[in-house]
Amino acid sequence: MVKARKYVVIKQFNGPPKRDDFDIVEEELSNTLQKDEILVKTEWISVDPYLRIYGLRYPIPYDQFSYQVGIVEESRHPKFPVGTRVVSHKGWRDYTIMDPNKGDSMFDRVYKLPPLNDLSESLGIGAVGMPGATAYFGFLELCQPKAGETVAVTGAAGAVGSIVGQIAKIKGCRVIGFAGSDDKVKWLENDLGFDKAFNYKTVDVTAALKQAAPKGIDCYFDNVGGEISSLILNQMNEFGRVAVCGSISSYNENPNEVPKATILQPTLVFKQLKVEGFIVWRWFDRWSEAFAELVGWIASGKLKTPEHVTEGFENLFDAFSGMLSGDNFGKAVVKV
Ligand code: NDP
Repeated sequence: MVKARKYVVIKQFNGPPKRDDFDIVEEELSNTLQKDEILVKTEWISVDPYLRIYGLRYPIPYDQFSYQVGIVEESRHPKFPVGTRVVSHKGWRDYTIMDPNKGDSMFDRVYKLPPLNDLSESLGIGAVGMPGATAYFGFLELCQPKAGETVAVTGAAGAVGSIVGQIAKIKGCRVIGFAGSDDKVKWLENDLGFDKAFNYKTVDVTAALKQAAPKGIDCYFDNVGGEISSLILNQMNEFGRVAVCGSISSYNENPNEVPKATILQPTLVFKQLKVEGFIVWRWFDRWSEAFAELVGWIASGKLKTPEHVTEGFENLFDAFSGMLSGDNFGKAVVKV
């Protein structure tokens, strides 16, 4: 009989998540698989910012969801034989029985790891997974970048932002990134090819943009929201496009106390900006299209996919907490 371990959220997060908001629970899995079921051993687990806020919709206690990559150890599904690698949203657990045919919501879908040409399977929860699709579709579909345009990206050193900036370079744009440390700034400029990067914690954002982009910003990929986004919107050109991907700067705020927003309407009107929020699942049926192109860019050396790897199932909380406070250069993943 397989005993699975899983993380259960036992206290609603209040401010930054704490270790004792979670419990690790053992669960006995059935010895007998039903028709079409597979037993999957988890290899890689993702820690992402949305885990901080999506849980608010569930009653406590709930199993911690997230993307994971695993290998099929037993199978009664003809299309998922033993040894197949699968991506699922089964969360922070080390063994799972799942049925790939079941699952109506995006959360429940189980799919085969896309072809990776010998790249690390961990990419299935990163650049060739949900964050990669987010960068690809969010940026290309909503910002519609053109060669020669100037693109600003916040959260630039993270999973999504680091890919957005590199896709912008591939498309012939000039790219300006904002991240939370001087080391990240150097890394973005020297290793990832950003034209300019700034530490948003120490710089005057408006002055920095006036110096780095004297002709203004055409596209803004917004990962963080808050004050910095207002400042960037004010430096945009007429008919600029803004993809609103996330607002991590407010995820630890009390959702019942809505923070006051800067008045932006005059900027939106007079600059005739197009601002659109999105959720990556909008394009779920096209994810494989993005994955094929992303893998091609990685294989040809045009796209780097740095990962911040934490070893050990028991260190999932530290990986999550560290990602929220900015430890990660690139995608934060946990090797089980
Ligand atoms: P990252 O890998 O970028 O990790 C989070 C990063 O956020 C940290 O490394 C930290 O970097 C930064 N950060 C933390 N607190 C703040 C703050 N107060 N202000 C500014 N930056 C902060 O995560 P992802 O790339 O996975 O996600 C980036 C954003 O995209 C998130 O907002 C997420 O919710 C969103 N997202 C949205 C999706 C969608 O479908 N709309 C899908 C996937 C992600 P630093 O050192 O730079 O501060």
